Amino acid sequence: MTRIPSYVKDVMEQLGRAGFAAYLVGGCVRDSLLGLEPHDWDLCTDALPEQTERALDGRRIIETGIRHGTVTVLTPGGPVEVTTFRTDGAYLDNRRPEHVTFVPRLEDDLARRDFTVNAMAMGPDGAVVDLYGGQADLRAGVIRCVGEADRRFSEDALRVLRALRFASRLRFSIEPATAESLLKNRALLDNIAAERIFSELLGILTGPGVERVLLTFAPVIFQIIPELACEAGFDQRNPYHIHDVWTHSALAAAATPPDAVLRLTMLLHDVGKPETFFTDQTGVGHFYGHAQAGAAKAEAILRRLRCDNATRERVCLLIARHADPPPRTPKAARRLLAKLGPDTARQLEACWRADCADRAQDVKTRNAALFDQAHGLLEDALAQPEACLGLKSLAVSGRDILALGVPEGPAVGRTLQALLDEVLDGTLPNERGPLLDRARALLGGDCNPPGGGI
Ligand code: ATP
Ligand code: MG
Repeated sequence: MTRIPSYVKDVMEQLGRAGFAAYLVGGCVRDSLLGLEPHDWDLCTDALPEQTERALDGRRIIETGIRHGTVTVLTPGGPVEVTTFRTDGAYLDNRRPEHVTFVPRLEDDLARRDFTVNAMAMGPDGAVVDLYGGQADLRAGVIRCVGEADRRFSEDALRVLRALRFASRLRFSIEPATAESLLKNRALLDNIAAERIFSELLGILTGPGVERVLLTFAPVIFQIIPELACEAGFDQRNPYHIHDVWTHSALAAAATPPDAVLRLTMLLHDVGKPETFFTDQTGVGHFYGHAQAGAAKAEAILRRLRCDNATRERVCLLIARHADPPPRTPKAARRLLAKLGPDTARQLEACWRADCADRAQDVKTRNAALFDQAHGLLEDALAQPEACLGLKSLAVSGRDILALGVPEGPAVGRTLQALLDEVLDGTLPNERGPLLDRARALLGGDCNPPGGGI
């Protein structure tokens, strides 16, 4: 069991001295019983929010969600959220209740919580209050609803995704009645705000149990991303692919490091396949242009899910390029780095590898050699101290080109790009003198040295 930090214990004891009950509750109890480091320590108490504030007088307190009974205590060790025991009011539209009722008993507060493993409390002495068999479910590795699953999922449909997120993060299975109910109630997710859905999706994707969750609960994923539904069972009719598109995508997502961009990319990378599919005269399936088509579709999906711009742009770029051949020469490696920059190029390499994770063994072996070669070329290019990998590091600038007498406009950029291409090709050194000579030669008649006539 993970130890309760002293800054958290201090708050519990201070509430206790003022005559109130104070317990750790929810995720921190679950994680510390698992021996994991909780990422935040939440307390619940029978003190009303204003009583909590009075009991903790002299401390820095933020009224985070006073309507829902939550205040945040800023301690030197970190923030601690303190929430008054409460029950939830009526649920409207399968979303969180509009109002809550403060209650004096811990039992009532635990009853509103979603899963048995999240419905435990712990006193300052470490004693666990476990009314729903949460400890047994932790030992068995099971996510199970508190109370009747159908009612719990229809009260708040986000719990459908929360169940999958905890199953993925903890590598737990979902108890059969809970699993059946969440599948049955998945359409209620249509009532949930996109931001909340997307945040749970990222949690599902970045967990170590993502593969099993995606494959077992595909209909839930198709509920939030209907564009993926036609991938299921889609026979690629191609000897290189041993799975249908959906199974391949799920395995590819699980094969990347647990990073949101990489996993989103692989989840969506083949979303353009069904629409670009055709079979040649021999009956073999092809998907020309599927990467571009997929990037366009992913763009629409991620906008709809309110994904942040930086993630969306990166994911779409990686999808658009995932079918590009890896570089096989130093020149190709330099060009790729100039185009994408080091971070994106390295992510693309991770995508290439993940895309092959479920291929037939001979294809896998052949591709691994190709990717290792590409990796070496990229890292060699990056290690060169003189590496000129973009317009920014070219030894001449737009101002230099203007000084040659080129009028302001697109010709300046075109000239710089032509110089960069030659530097990347290794035919021109990245030095001012040779670059300016070459620019003059390229510009020929367009070049009017200042003071040199018209
Ligand atoms: P994490 O480690 O991801 O923060 P957590 O269990 O702390 O996991 P939170 O979303 O922070 O999850 O919620 C804290 C606690 O509040 C949960 O453990 C659970 O008891 C309760 N809870 C949160 N959301 C819901 C919900 N939608 N329905 C019922 N109970 C919930
Ligand atoms: Mg939490």
